[in-house]
Amino acid sequence: MQFQVVQEAKQRKAADIAVLPYWEEGKKPVAAFSRKEFSEEFLSLMEKDFSGKSGESLLSYIPEGVEKRVLLLGLGKRKECDGDSLRKAFALALGACRKKKLVHLNLFVPQGFKLEEIEAVLDGLWMANYSYDALKRKTVEETPTVLVKKVTLIGCGKDVLPSVDKMQHVMEGVNLARDLVNGNADDVKASFLVQMAKDFGKKFSSVEVKVLGKKELEKEGMGLMLAVNRGASQDPALILMHYRGDPKSDDITAVVGKGVTYDTGGLNLKPTGSMETMKCDMAGSAAVAGLIQACASLKLKKNVLGVIASVENAIGGDAYKPGDVYISHSGKSIEISNTDAEGRLVLADAFSYVQKHFSVSRLVDFATLTGGVIVALGDEAAGLFSNDKKLCDQLKKAAEGTGERVWELPLYPEYLDALKSSIADLKNSRNGRKASASSGAMFLKQFIEKDLPWAHLDIAGTAYLSDLSSYSPSHATGVGVKLMIEFLLNLR
Ligand SMILES: [Zn+2]
Repeated sequence: MQFQVVQEAKQRKAADIAVLPYWEEGKKPVAAFSRKEFSEEFLSLMEKDFSGKSGESLLSYIPEGVEKRVLLLGLGKRKECDGDSLRKAFALALGACRKKKLVHLNLFVPQGFKLEEIEAVLDGLWMANYSYDALKRKTVEETPTVLVKKVTLIGCGKDVLPSVDKMQHVMEGVNLARDLVNGNADDVKASFLVQMAKDFGKKFSSVEVKVLGKKELEKEGMGLMLAVNRGASQDPALILMHYRGDPKSDDITAVVGKGVTYDTGGLNLKPTGSMETMKCDMAGSAAVAGLIQACASLKLKKNVLGVIASVENAIGGDAYKPGDVYISHSGKSIEISNTDAEGRLVLADAFSYVQKHFSVSRLVDFATLTGGVIVALGDEAAGLFSNDKKLCDQLKKAAEGTGERVWELPLYPEYLDALKSSIADLKNSRNGRKASASSGAMFLKQFIEKDLPWAHLDIAGTAYLSDLSSYSPSHATGVGVKLMIEFLLNLR
């Protein structure tokens, strides 16, 4: 999707449709664009059936004008308007245009909008302009997917161009993450992610890639990663993508992604109804991939160590066993009380590897870790757990700016009591369903050195949605990319 900017409405060129935003005042619509560009008679007629409420839209042909059609778009009350409502409204507008196969939009930007509001508008447009068609055959021939190709932002100066450029790179990262999650688990496996990382290394001189295959993982003693992967026919991989955007600084943010390319649950097999979406269990690693691509293409002046810990949790004669004890990279022994609590095992080894070999300033992980976080927060927010108030606040602030919501959940010391084992240093899962998101996070915390600021984002709900919308027309959301870019940009 290409963007153009035009300051004066008079300068705009022909397009398929004009998107006209409205505020709601009382129960009446108030135009947030210059009315004189359109016939007053026509607008007054249209406004009879339109209130400007958030979520309302009205599409019509227009008798004469630069565009053939108009879409009246309700933004709700000006006072109540925020980033979330703008993302949703403009996603709705773009979705309506796609349905009508309209590919060139003249979008009137509400007068007086600040840059962050314009970024929210762009976010909504980009999120809605996505389709995953790689696995479709007949339907694509019969009803080809329509994506909007060009949007002209009317009423904006050249000062918005850096924001347009930034959002383009960020959203390409988000869409990469969405593609990786939507792809078949049989295709997007560890070797696929390795190749993708190597391609990054070739494309971007700022990204240095290192891969630990099965042999290197054995040499390094990554006993938990290897255990989880034992039932799989594919080899595991630990992929490190070191992006150096500020070589003079020794500040490094490590971002670790859970990359379970398929999760059957292992011998504690998931039941029907719980396994079908499990290709999404690598969404954390997809976010890391999208983030590194976005950082490199944006030439962000920060250093990021992107880490993907990729395995498949399969069943088979060699699968790791509930009740057995395996030794982690950190040296701690772990009793497997549930093979379906595999993400924390993989992350635990990745954490201790990163801390042993790199001097990082902070570590943030993204993982579709627990069903418990979905029970607590639904698809609406990621669970945030942290040992560091400053890092936690920085992530909350970044979340506010991007609409990728986070909600802090506790790490009470009692959660550790439930992970005690009589035969090993720790067990990987507590009995029963109590506080499963917190106890998963508590397990992870045991693999973080005391003074390293760490935050865990449980994205089990937000990474792969059950219900689709204009804003999320595909199950995979690519969550994490926008949040981390904003976090890095705010980092001082
Ligand atoms: Zn699992």
